[in-house]
Amino acid sequence: MLRVALTGGIASGKTTVSNLFAELQIPVVDADILAREAVAAGSNGLRQVVERFGEQILTADNELNRAALREIVFQDPQARKDLEAIVHPQVRQLTQAAIQRHEAEGAAYCLIVVPLLVETGQSKRHDKVIVVDVDKNVQLDRLLKRDGSSEQQARSIIESQASREQRLEIADYIIDNSGELDLPSLRKRVAEIHDNIIAISNDQR
Ligand code: ATP
Repeated sequence: MLRVALTGGIASGKTTVSNLFAELQIPVVDADILAREAVAAGSNGLRQVVERFGEQILTADNELNRAALREIVFQDPQARKDLEAIVHPQVRQLTQAAIQRHEAEGAAYCLIVVPLLVETGQSKRHDKVIVVDVDKNVQLDRLLKRDGSSEQQARSIIESQASREQRLEIADYIIDNSGELDLPSLRKRVAEIHDNIIAISNDQR
């Protein structure tokens, strides 16, 4: 089974694109979804986060209060490192388990959504890399619309990530998502890439 990474900056359209691969029955492993699972209520991950940050980061229902935690790590680089040291190993484990499951099920390839592929130096671990590419201003626009964050916060998140050029450098396939949402065109581009990866997978079997 081929391991295909899908990456792109924040709010570039990774979820939008990965949903189109899912429409083609391709299994999708999404690090963001697994990161939520890693700190779900009652999880080992959440227990460790509470040990480090205290019960102030819990809601009344004993779930993770994401806004409270985000506030803390946004202002404190060490806190952010500590949080990552807890969450990343859990996400890696859940990711490997999901990939193995899809392989056992006989998938030709699986799509692994890794937002920080460049930042974490993981591109070589994948057989192919797909990059969802958008202009920085488009990214900022979508981020402001979707999350209602301040422009300063949105800009600083974008600046903290890899640059557009760094991502394009490691791309095997580029999906341009800068324009207005045009699902038929996006679906067509996804189908092209899908056909190409299936052909590569068939060659290797
Ligand atoms: P994140 O990095 O935050 O997980 P993402 O890369 O998964 O984000 P999406 O959630 O797919 O990005 O898209 C970000 C926002 O932009 C969403 O509100 C989505 O509906 C919207 N969007 C995606 N593609 C387009 C497009 N081509 N035109 C306009 N809006 C779009």
